[in-house]
Amino acid sequence: MTVSLWQTSGPLSSVRTDLVVIGAGITGLSAAIEAQRQGLSCVVIDARAPGSSASGRNAGYLMRGAADNYAAAARDLGRETTRSLWKWTEENLRGLLDLGIEELPSFDRRPSCLLALSDDEADDLSRSHDLMREDGFAADLLRAGDAHTDDSIWTRAAPRIGLVNPDDAVCNPIELIGLLCAHLDAAELVTGCEAFAIESAPDGERAVHTTLGTIRASRVLIAANAHAGRLVPELGRVVQPNRGQMLAAHAPGTRLDFAYYANHGSEYVRQLEPGYILFGGARTHDEEGERTSADNLSLAIQEKLEELCGAWICDDFRVIARWAGIMGFSPDHLPAAGEVGGDPAVWFCGGFTGHGMSMAYRTATATVRAMTGKEPLPEWLLLERFADRLA
Ligand SMILES: Cc1cc2nc3c(=O)[nH]c(=O)nc-3n(C[C@H](O)[C@H](O)[C@H](O)COP(=O)(O)OP(=O)(O)OC[C@H]3O[C@@H](n4cnc5c(N)ncnc54)[C@H](O)[C@@H]3O)c2cc1C
Repeated sequence: MTVSLWQTSGPLSSVRTDLVVIGAGITGLSAAIEAQRQGLSCVVIDARAPGSSASGRNAGYLMRGAADNYAAAARDLGRETTRSLWKWTEENLRGLLDLGIEELPSFDRRPSCLLALSDDEADDLSRSHDLMREDGFAADLLRAGDAHTDDSIWTRAAPRIGLVNPDDAVCNPIELIGLLCAHLDAAELVTGCEAFAIESAPDGERAVHTTLGTIRASRVLIAANAHAGRLVPELGRVVQPNRGQMLAAHAPGTRLDFAYYANHGSEYVRQLEPGYILFGGARTHDEEGERTSADNLSLAIQEKLEELCGAWICDDFRVIARWAGIMGFSPDHLPAAGEVGGDPAVWFCGGFTGHGMSMAYRTATATVRAMTGKEPLPEWLLLERFADRLA
């Protein structure tokens, strides 16, 4: 986008900083925390407010791994990358524990459980269990008829088996955003400030043109996730907006012992306080319609969520809230980080494909460490693997 002379002045026009982070979701705030640790001056800007996009609208699963199970990931990505990715997500939670996530009122060390509703998926979960154990990850297998028969989903949905990640957790994502913000002491957070262009400036700096004026910085990190393509169009060819929809319901008498995922991660349900549940997903029932950056609700998906909620949880649930959020999907469903347009001063980090709670803190802090030459990023994370799309 071009920039008019008049747009370069504004309250932020006198600001010079080591790092500008664009986007105050989990990624941008985590990056700012790492920048502070390194003694860099840092300004985080957000077009709206911290957590206003996916980071404040998600289901709060702090789950190990990625969208699908370990065996499926090993087939698609290779065993080595899968092992590294699962470790990465364990490190993500460990990092958040170091920041004090356990102190959040909503934090619950609730294990997650992948449910197999078909024989094929049951074979996959069984194989995942074996592979995970071989690779040194804790995992348990539950079969129908084992314990948990009083758990509503085992009674009604009759899954074949469940694969339990015993060390996972859940939380209210807005509380997590609050925790990350509370860790910003040296870094400055500016809300209601949209970046609309990044250009080279004299003295080797970059000029970040925003709605509050032009900021000068030595480095820029784009942490705008699904919205990055509006700022840098080629990023939109890598990280594409996809809508996720959820509902919360009063579901009297319901008991859910785990934070559940079903149908290869397509649907998810967990208990809030007693008698209340969160139910989300079902985007595979209208993939074309959900490939959008519009965060309104769709009747087709909301009806599907209600149908599944009735089939799996209880008959007499009453919806108390419905919402949507925009996720950033990458072509291989792994996050991506690295230099943008061959400019060593401008980086991107995002594309968590519906799993940023589990990956963004680890990925963003590693990205800042890579930007400052402290440690290289793992190969499977590099943005340059999509060079054909970025050209
Ligand atoms: C319904 C739903 C359920 C989910 N459930 C889970 C879950 O249970 N577990 C899990 O691990 N993940 C889940 N996710 C995914 C997770 O929420 C995201 O992966 C994560 O929040 C991404 O964080 P982010 O900071 O990269 O992006 P975002 O949270 O999207 O933040 C990007 C920020 O950039 C700002 N921005 C954009 N463009 C500009 C600009 N030009 N200038 C300034 N600011 C800009 C936006 O305002 C926004 O605040 C879910 C997502 C959704 C939508």
